[in-house]
Amino acid sequence: MTGSTRKREVGRGERVLPGVWRLRLPLPWPGVPHGNAWAVAAGDGIVLFDCGYHDEGSLGHLERALAMVNLRLEHVRLLVCTHAHSDHYGQAATIVDATGCELWMHPDHEHMTRSAADPEEAWRRRIEVARQSGVPAEPLERYAAMRKGSGTGIARIVEPDRDLLPGVEIETDLGRWTVHETPGHAPSHVCLFQPERRVLISGDHLLGRVSLYYDYGYTPDPAGEFLGSLDVVEALDARLCLPGHGRTFTDVQAHIVANRALVGERVGKALEVVETRGPITAFDAVPLIYGEPITPLNANWWLSETLAYLTHLQVLGRLERIPGEGGGPERWVAA
Ligand SMILES: [Zn+2]
Ligand SMILES: [Zn+2]
Repeated sequence: MTGSTRKREVGRGERVLPGVWRLRLPLPWPGVPHGNAWAVAAGDGIVLFDCGYHDEGSLGHLERALAMVNLRLEHVRLLVCTHAHSDHYGQAATIVDATGCELWMHPDHEHMTRSAADPEEAWRRRIEVARQSGVPAEPLERYAAMRKGSGTGIARIVEPDRDLLPGVEIETDLGRWTVHETPGHAPSHVCLFQPERRVLISGDHLLGRVSLYYDYGYTPDPAGEFLGSLDVVEALDARLCLPGHGRTFTDVQAHIVANRALVGERVGKALEVVETRGPITAFDAVPLIYGEPITPLNANWWLSETLAYLTHLQVLGRLERIPGEGGGPERWVAA
């Protein structure tokens, strides 16, 4: 859609269950037009799960979404973030400042809070990973130029008042929610589960549409961690999922199976590409895995995803990473 025909996105609120509201908040990203925050009734207020991206006007979108379901920011008694990505945690500081509520989040949030504290350093690190992965200088400069000036989406770094770890429970009118660590998409990712109603707040771990993304470079094996997290959620036997993007869905098990299948397919493809074309850089492997060339829009996403699979195969003992010589890119070969 072009700018002139594109509908202006605004925050919207809707009730999905008695005492549960979906707050759909706009995002500035192509292909990901909005994300969800979930409000759950708790006494005379609400617990807010996730809070949306911070930029100019973003608080207005949250307030508008709340107002559509007769809620106000002042009703927030507790803010819980499923993970520290900007579209889930971006407005945390604003909400904590405005309401005095606590923020609960998993302690492994450095993947975001460190880069938000020093965006230039984070950008240099990302460029270094790209260079090491074999991205040639020319597109690298183009990506860098495209990114210049775009904000972090985080109002201010605010540390959690409480570490969101297994054993912590969140009290709401729907009952208590338990905490389940689900790293892979992000090291700080957790899912929240209400066992009597079997409702799952899944963040970005499970979405209606299978969409794989890994924060690469912070943990030993993000793709392997993601697969383990699918097992964690499968064991909960949820019957309703409130995801971080898109509509609620009920066929939770089918979504778990579909995620596992797609990871398996891509890992298999990555192995096949390296076995037949190696030694090969991650950058050269991407179009062979996806069947499409790298573009500035998909570059960061696909490169992180591919590096996650190559690393997973290395952990499994199937591939080896050959360090680049004299500042050259690293290459991958079959073990
Ligand atoms: Zn995320
Ligand atoms: Zn998200």
